[in-house]
Amino acid sequence: MPDFSASFHLLDPFGGCPMNRFLLASAFVFVAGAAFAAQPEQPPAGWPKLPPKAPASNVKLVEPHLRVDRAGKGAPRIALTFDACMGKTDPRILDTLVDQRIPATIFVTARWLRTNPDALKVFLAHPDLFELENHGQNHIPAVDIPTKVYGIPAAGSPEAVAQEVKGGADAMIAAGIPQPRWFRGATAKYSRSSIEQIRGMGYRIAGYSVNGDSGSLLPAKMVEKQYASAKDGDVIISHINQPTHAAGEGVAASILALKAKGVQFVRLQDIPEKGDAGTTN
Ligand SMILES: [Zn+2]
Repeated sequence: MPDFSASFHLLDPFGGCPMNRFLLASAFVFVAGAAFAAQPEQPPAGWPKLPPKAPASNVKLVEPHLRVDRAGKGAPRIALTFDACMGKTDPRILDTLVDQRIPATIFVTARWLRTNPDALKVFLAHPDLFELENHGQNHIPAVDIPTKVYGIPAAGSPEAVAQEVKGGADAMIAAGIPQPRWFRGATAKYSRSSIEQIRGMGYRIAGYSVNGDSGSLLPAKMVEKQYASAKDGDVIISHINQPTHAAGEGVAASILALKAKGVQFVRLQDIPEKGDAGTTN
């Protein structure tokens, strides 16, 4: 979820004091007006000095796409992927997947595993349905350069990216899950160099092609629209860890709607795929 207060704070040279913000805003309005009127750019004596411009962020992040091979003729093929970031498990989604026998790929963090032993048992009891993959140790964006993504501080160094990836895998193996082959970092954004690093650790990186729930923040009807837009070969991302959000209701209904359309559901491990930005082969 974008955290605008955090990004404002980053740009706020006065550390958030409301009075100073007011003075800064006044100075900005004055200078903007002065420039428009081709007046001298410097405010007269007595006005607060403008702070130096915040340096523009030069951290270029990539949000990779992923598709699976199309079925071509016949039923469209779609890969459902769910992130279990932290917190709880949404029974509306989990029960639908189990009851309808819908295969899916679930990305789990070490954080989520610690607090959801019962849901993990359900996943492990259905190896024919669920592929479990690595969503990291602490849900920290896998970016090796200091920055924030939606207000969340990134790992910030190659060592911290390695820890996030390895810590996730270690927790999975300790919980009885097979060695993961896919990684999807928190926020699904990376730097070019962190993509290369994670690939070097033996992982494919799971982008997506349809954003099903926008971080579990969409109303149910919007989720249903997103899912209904999925076509042959699409990889849908949604969240399975927000049982109190309306989005989960839309996800459950959408899974049934896709099934009714005759969609062939596939997991990432079962089908050739193509990711961009060097995320797969
Ligand atoms: Zn997540």
